[in-house]
Amino acid sequence: MPPTILWFRQDLRVSDHPALVAAAAEGAVIPLYILDDEGPGRWAIGGAQRWWLDGSLAALDASLRKRGSRLLLRRGRAAEELAKICGETGSNRIHATRCYEPWWKAADKQVAGAAELVLHDGNYLAAPDSVTNAGGGRYSVYTPWYRKLLERMPPALPLAPPDHIEAPEQWPASESLSDWALKPTNPDWAQGFTGWQPGEKGAWRAARDWMPLAGDYKANRDFPSRPATSRLSPHLHFGELTPRALWHALGERDDPGVACYRSELGWREHGINLVDQMPGYGDWPGRERFGTLAWRYGPEADSDFAAWTRGRTGYPVVDAGMRELWQTGWMHNRVRMIVASFLVKHLLIDWRRGERWFWDTLLDADLGSNAMNWQYVAGTGVDAPVFSRIMSPILQCERFAMGDYVRSFVPEIAHLSDAEIVAAHGQDAAVAGYPAPLIGHQAARARALAVWEGLRD
Ligand SMILES: Cc1cc2nc3c(=O)[nH]c(=O)nc-3n(C[C@H](O)[C@H](O)[C@H](O)COP(=O)(O)OP(=O)(O)OC[C@H]3O[C@@H](n4cnc5c(N)ncnc54)[C@H](O)[C@@H]3O)c2cc1C
Repeated sequence: MPPTILWFRQDLRVSDHPALVAAAAEGAVIPLYILDDEGPGRWAIGGAQRWWLDGSLAALDASLRKRGSRLLLRRGRAAEELAKICGETGSNRIHATRCYEPWWKAADKQVAGAAELVLHDGNYLAAPDSVTNAGGGRYSVYTPWYRKLLERMPPALPLAPPDHIEAPEQWPASESLSDWALKPTNPDWAQGFTGWQPGEKGAWRAARDWMPLAGDYKANRDFPSRPATSRLSPHLHFGELTPRALWHALGERDDPGVACYRSELGWREHGINLVDQMPGYGDWPGRERFGTLAWRYGPEADSDFAAWTRGRTGYPVVDAGMRELWQTGWMHNRVRMIVASFLVKHLLIDWRRGERWFWDTLLDADLGSNAMNWQYVAGTGVDAPVFSRIMSPILQCERFAMGDYVRSFVPEIAHLSDAEIVAAHGQDAAVAGYPAPLIGHQAARARALAVWEGLRD
């Protein structure tokens, strides 16, 4: 019997892995990861995630070795590399976890044309196309969709990892992880990516560390200075733990904190639900008329965009968020909403520019979650609030007590009190050495509303 191939993608784990369990039950297995920078085109894995991928692949290889196997690495177009491995080993059967991003769907089609591809559900609480209304139709709005998803919960119990994975008689050649140079060196801009442990062990360590905070999650999750959220998003994106294992780890609890946490896992599912139905959701507005909104373009907009990416807008909360992202590869959800709203509404810059920046700098960059959230904040999404709802960074800073958060990322104003930080938003010459605001809050609001009125005509 030729070996079967287990094609790892965004499922870099050995526990609760239906495809791995199925492959291991069939005999010898070749576990394979292909770094495909061509198939996804502009959605190729971004800079920050390459750093994560390096650690996650090393951890997966170590786990496989403990089970008598190893991870084979290849680089190139997924379908072509799989065809080569099949040719080298005589294998014609491939197991993989189902992915819903358009480039994976395209690759699946190509692979299935040349070999037997067996796809397994595994990275979501439910396959997105399985959550439908009474008439079998799909949902595009979160609330009814989540209600329906809950009817299907709890999910099936997670699967144990195989104790042993049979190795093939001969291993095909593998590339080496160090040759891929996924981590930046010159300069090493990832020095601030501390506190993360990519890989399955790190995922469960982070989950266990967070569990005691679950009860207060609802009350604290919007306050970036409070330890409240799980920071599991990169682990979930890379499939190092599954949402259903997380669901069961929370047990029978249904207090407001845990219910709220589960509903956030639901937002992740909804993002992929949207992308599964609208593969271009990362590129095109869900509400068609936004295709003609008069975004700012040209040198002045470019300069404002650069100031936003560097955290030099003159709005302390926005600057703290953008600097947190650059330094740590992550940003608190409430602050993501503020910086995204600021880019789109205060600066009138096309949401897709911000989305791409996030794609390159976030450790958790994920097409479903990123596109859905950008479109939601921008007001362009299928279930987004109306564009004219404009977030005030000033009120957000005050309401969610962001003084400590700002002080930790914006040293120029670290000597200011909470009230002074709130007052410094959008104020000219507020503090020596801190940038003047790109635009005042009221002027920005008036400009955005005027553009919105133009679109409505
Ligand atoms: C403009 C913008 C862009 C975003 N881009 C991404 C992205 O590329 N990848 C990504 O994973 N999340 C994205 N988010 C959602 C959210 O900010 C992160 O999932 C969250 O901050 C991750 O931190 P956590 O793991 O501590 O979350 P927790 O609060 O602990 O939540 C648990 C999990 O639920 C999911 N989740 C929580 N909030 C959301 C949400 N609003 N939308 C979707 N899933 C959610 C995540 O998987 C998260 O790990 C974005 C939000 C905004 C406003």
